[in-house]
Amino acid sequence: MAPGGSAIGGQPEWRDDAEYPTCPVCRKLMPCIAQIALGDPWGDDLDGWFTFFLHTECSLAAMVCQG
Ligand SMILES: [Zn+2]
Repeated sequence: MAPGGSAIGGQPEWRDDAEYPTCPVCRKLMPCIAQIALGDPWGDDLDGWFTFFLHTECSLAAMVCQG
């Protein structure tokens, strides 16, 4: 994952404290699958991220927005 950019896989970046959602079915932490940077894609301003999680065992997805 490029610093400050969007990416599939890898370790997410966090503006605030890390927020890994807990699966509501089995209570395990949900793994991150992708992160989309918010802001002007051609500029240097970064307003935050949408971070997406997928727990395949329970077929549940989640999203966290920081920014
Ligand atoms: Zn689960």
